[in-house]
Amino acid sequence: MNRAEDFDVVVLGGGMTGLALAHHLAEQNAMQPAKQQQTLVIEPRSSYVRDKTWCYWQHESSPFDAAISHRWHRWSVSYGDHTHVGCSRTTPYVRVDSAKYYTIAQQQIAASNSVTLRLGDHASEVCAGPDHVQVTCKASTVQAKQVIDTRPTAIPAGTLLQHFCGWEITTDTDVFDPTTVTLMDFASHPASGDIHFFYVLPFSPRHALVETTHFSLQVANEDRYTQELQSYLQNRFELKQWQIKHREQGVIPMPKQTLDLARRRHANIIPMGLHSDTTKASTGYCYPHAQRQASRHVAALFARQNAQAVPARSKLSRWFDGVFIDFLEQHPELAGEVFLRLFTGVPTDALVRFLSDRARPDDYLRVMTALPKWLFIRLAYQHAVSA
Ligand SMILES: Cc1cc2nc3c(=O)[nH]c(=O)nc-3n(C[C@H](O)[C@H](O)[C@H](O)COP(=O)(O)OP(=O)(O)OC[C@H]3O[C@@H](n4cnc5c(N)ncnc54)[C@H](O)[C@@H]3O)c2cc1C
Repeated sequence: MNRAEDFDVVVLGGGMTGLALAHHLAEQNAMQPAKQQQTLVIEPRSSYVRDKTWCYWQHESSPFDAAISHRWHRWSVSYGDHTHVGCSRTTPYVRVDSAKYYTIAQQQIAASNSVTLRLGDHASEVCAGPDHVQVTCKASTVQAKQVIDTRPTAIPAGTLLQHFCGWEITTDTDVFDPTTVTLMDFASHPASGDIHFFYVLPFSPRHALVETTHFSLQVANEDRYTQELQSYLQNRFELKQWQIKHREQGVIPMPKQTLDLARRRHANIIPMGLHSDTTKASTGYCYPHAQRQASRHVAALFARQNAQAVPARSKLSRWFDGVFIDFLEQHPELAGEVFLRLFTGVPTDALVRFLSDRARPDDYLRVMTALPKWLFIRLAYQHAVSA
């Protein structure tokens, strides 16, 4: 039998999180050659194409800023007859083009002599030993001191899901306001137990990504998404025709209790990414948290040279997420009203820090004051008892 190839770090999955890790590992390897971490990234795709639109509030620059294609300083939330427009001069809402992201990462890996991206391969078995982890791939076996696992996993039944379908469309008339993102435009009559809203990223007056988004336990079928998008475009924008340039669809888990990395099964196998603790479960945002976690994780690896797992967020933030998901599960009929209260009642920059896991103590206070007090006290108590 062939001997397993040896690495310091093996990253399973060269998607958004895996490539962010690869970037930081390549950068630190170049800066600190004495502590170099020979790294392998295993990715089943044989090449990359644009597959997703990643948006987030940009608080700081990141290595992938060249992949940002649009920035907005205004966003709206609508429920019933009310629309609230928030704006921030300092923290824009930005859109990352995944094709550019993949290109930037691949170029940097190609320039590195210590990080390898192996495309067209996948990990089928991962076995933890006392001081190394063995990974069986399609055509080879590799071993590493640390494995970072970003592969998707099955979502446990009963988990609240954020599921959505988006069309990037062009139109023949000016219909979109390119200054303002529609973060949430709540549907008037959602099905019971379902939270449903539309999301619009306006690239120009005639070009936008329009998404129908649900928080519910079951994903919808293609016909339902199609019908929702059609009627939104017809009723909200009075459009009769449009051209679909690109489609995207996704399911993001919103668990009440996210994985606690401190209690992971094996010290040397660290789960990260969409199906680990990286996603902020109450919002479904993963991109900014993965960027921060990847950078912190690699910094910790170089500082201590051992397998420490850096959690994506504080215990307080996880607790807030859990209580908010309890609320969404138990009171879907109040979701539109409560989101509108949050956006209206909390100063924009404070709310954006809260949603981005960068809240200061007074931001938490402002958020708590904007929420229906007795309902959230009861939910917080229930959550504490069930945790
Ligand atoms: C359409 C869409 C839009 C989104 N928009 C946003 C957004 O606007 N903002 C935001 O913050 N988040 C967004 N998300 C959520 C999240 O940011 C993305 O899903 C992101 O890609 C998650 O990164 P990841 O690295 O965890 O997963 P992925 O990017 O999916 O990477 C996982 C990788 O694992 C690989 N893999 C699978 N099996 C194996 C195997 N056996 N061995 C090795 N590798 C394997 C896959 O090929 C894949 O490349 C969106 C998600 C979707 C689906």
